Amino acid sequence: MLYALKMATPYHISFACFECRKSFKRQVNFFGEIPKELPCPDCGKAATNLGRHFKPPKKSDAKQWAKVKFLVDHGFHFQKIRVGSGHHDTVPYPETLEEAKKFVVKYKQYAKPSGI
Ligand SMILES: [Zn+2]
Repeated sequence: MLYALKMATPYHISFACFECRKSFKRQVNFFGEIPKELPCPDCGKAATNLGRHFKPPKKSDAKQWAKVKFLVDHGFHFQKIRVGSGHHDTVPYPETLEEAKKFVVKYKQYAKPSGI
């Protein structure tokens, strides 16, 4: 009962527009369709679904946005990456673009090229 309730509870998905360097959220629930892309409310270009765990950098932080785009281009949409069987064995996402370059190689098998 509680489990069913939890699944039906709406939650927010982040979408990011790399043109505008902004992110916006859409409320969805477990039973709803979650689009991989939505038009950016500002420029109308495709904004990418980055799931529930994405924390957008500041608009002025071009380096961080470059890192995010790099990760997405390599199939990392801020999905949780679990390297062990436990729920806490998740891999932290890289802080910098330099780290991201190693990250995408190291965790290549967890990449989802087609998105979430
Ligand atoms: Zn935009």
